[in-house]
Amino acid sequence: MMNQKQGIKFIFNPTLMGLKIKDETSLFPVGKIYCVGKNYLAHAEEMGSAIERDEPFFFSKPPQALTHFKKIPYPPKTNNLHHEVELVVFLSKGGSNISQEEAKKMIFGYAVGVDLTRRDLQKQFKDAGEPWDLSKGFDDSAPISEIVQNTSLLADAKISLKVNDEQRQSSNISEMIWGVGALISHLSQYITLKPGDVIFTGTPAGVGSLNKNDVVFAEIEGVGHLEFTMV
Ligand code: MN
Repeated sequence: MMNQKQGIKFIFNPTLMGLKIKDETSLFPVGKIYCVGKNYLAHAEEMGSAIERDEPFFFSKPPQALTHFKKIPYPPKTNNLHHEVELVVFLSKGGSNISQEEAKKMIFGYAVGVDLTRRDLQKQFKDAGEPWDLSKGFDDSAPISEIVQNTSLLADAKISLKVNDEQRQSSNISEMIWGVGALISHLSQYITLKPGDVIFTGTPAGVGSLNKNDVVFAEIEGVGHLEFTMV
């Protein structure tokens, strides 16, 4: 159990994930990570499912999945690694049963993230009715840009991803089915959110495979960009 009180000793150093913040020397301490599935209609359709839910669904990645590395090792146990560009939201305040209006006051900033997915494993697990955690939460499965401290995100920011200069994903965050405030509010009805928690807000259409040596460039207007190479 972690404890802030002085005098507490750990038998070995605890792992704490910190992310870079633009124009800051201090790091952002990462707590829990939640990712929303199928939050853009065209992506839900390309995955073969219509939106027939009145609530979003969430899954998690471990904090250690986040990485600023510019070289991402192609992971084991897959032959079909997919890219999913996403707007990522960082919280500086917590709480439960939060209204959409209050939710906006909890936002510390935003970043560009890629939710790397072992699509073949995900399908295999889904077909077997098993949890698909290991298709989503593996080493370096969440490359991320530095965090921009800005609570005035453009309502209609472009979101895009290129592989080797070829456009793969191109949409607008205004196309999200559940907006940032709605996602925070929904989550807070199920769990208590804490400062440091991170939310991946879903990917637009155009997901596809990555191979070794591919160069990935992801960008969100007003937030920044992220570039990495698969090795
Ligand atoms: Mn995703």
